[in-house]
Amino acid sequence: MFCEHHANALDAADPLPTLRGEFLIPRHDGAEMAYFVGNSLGLQPRSARAHVETVLDKWEHEAVEGHFTGDAQWMSYHELVREPLARLVGANPAEVVAMNSLTANLHLMMVSFYRPTRERPAILMEAGAFPSDRYALASQVAFHGFDPATDLIELEPDEPDGTFSMAAIERAIAQHGRRLALVLWPGIQYRTGQAFDIQAITALAHAQGAVCGFDLAHAVGNLPLALHDSGVDFAVWCHYKYLNSGPGAVAGCFVHERHAHTDRPRFAGWWGHEPATRFQMGPDFRPTPGADGWQLSNPPILGLAPLRASLELYDRVGMAALRAKSLRLTGYLESLIRELLADVLQIVTPAERERRGSQLSLRVAGGREQGRALFDYLAANGVLGDWREPDVIRISPAPLYNTHADVLRFARAVEAWRDVH
Ligand SMILES: *Cc1c(COP(=O)(O)O)cnc(C)c1O
Repeated sequence: MFCEHHANALDAADPLPTLRGEFLIPRHDGAEMAYFVGNSLGLQPRSARAHVETVLDKWEHEAVEGHFTGDAQWMSYHELVREPLARLVGANPAEVVAMNSLTANLHLMMVSFYRPTRERPAILMEAGAFPSDRYALASQVAFHGFDPATDLIELEPDEPDGTFSMAAIERAIAQHGRRLALVLWPGIQYRTGQAFDIQAITALAHAQGAVCGFDLAHAVGNLPLALHDSGVDFAVWCHYKYLNSGPGAVAGCFVHERHAHTDRPRFAGWWGHEPATRFQMGPDFRPTPGADGWQLSNPPILGLAPLRASLELYDRVGMAALRAKSLRLTGYLESLIRELLADVLQIVTPAERERRGSQLSLRVAGGREQGRALFDYLAANGVLGDWREPDVIRISPAPLYNTHADVLRFARAVEAWRDVH
């Protein structure tokens, strides 16, 4: 089980042959890296360049006419990603839109869905959230004239490795229920890799009369999602992590169908105006029903182009088959760590498959200095994970392009480091 021969055999026999050949794999000292940072910046699909060049060529030859000509005309370019995106997150097509960036979308969603009152001013979030989310939420609370010190409620993890039991989340929502305007939770926690039950948390929030939103930065393209059926009010995510759409790629946003014709306030822009009358250039805003109504500007076409390449690959494989492969790869990583490396690495991420995605967060024995030394050794040997202070290495086998052989290479490199320490 722990030799190259076996890892290669697992790859050869895998029910889902790798799509590694569809990606550009970065090299280190002439050899392909074992790249485990798809949870931070996914690799470039080979076809991304052609999609970008098509846009550049169209701009070169047609200039402004490019808005109106051909299948990939810019006027409706974001429509090209709608259906595949809806399939990916389990939504109706009108519930999703690709626009802006994650944090910008989080703010736009809160403008509509965080409506604090004196009786019900609070947001419940996790302590230790990704800083951008905390900044966004705290600034929204303050923007409405409330005090983040009392009205931004941050739930501390109740499990030893910094993870949450469902019971703790349930207790917190019940305890603060009458004061909660919004519950904002991650699909997967970025530091621990813990996955959460979107449907269950949404039901708990709704039972208390609160709105519920999710940040799916680490969940989209990693876990199968059923956003429509989950009932969640809104969700936001980015496309440069598992979605492989390039640095700063255009992000995603979900608004549940029940809000398609909402009269909640929103920050409006002309691209959210209903398309049929947008170019009458009238003074009054008439929102497009559904998620499209939250768009502000005409989208950055060059930024959207790689997303098309990425979604074609997701559509080719399907999220269910990809998740099955992800479970095999991460399960293999887990067994190598437990059998061979237990004296060096402790797995922080929950062991139950429904409580994690592809990422394992690994605490290095001996603390920060040892952890940094191991991390640097791995990088110097072409095995790339990422480092989270104070002592965690995150390793995320991406099922589109990582292999069992990559995973074994990680374990072998840790063994080699241990043997000289
Ligand atoms: C990656 C990530 C972000 C990044 O925000 P941007 O607006 O895309 O820069 C925010 N929140 C979470 C939870 C993330 O994982």
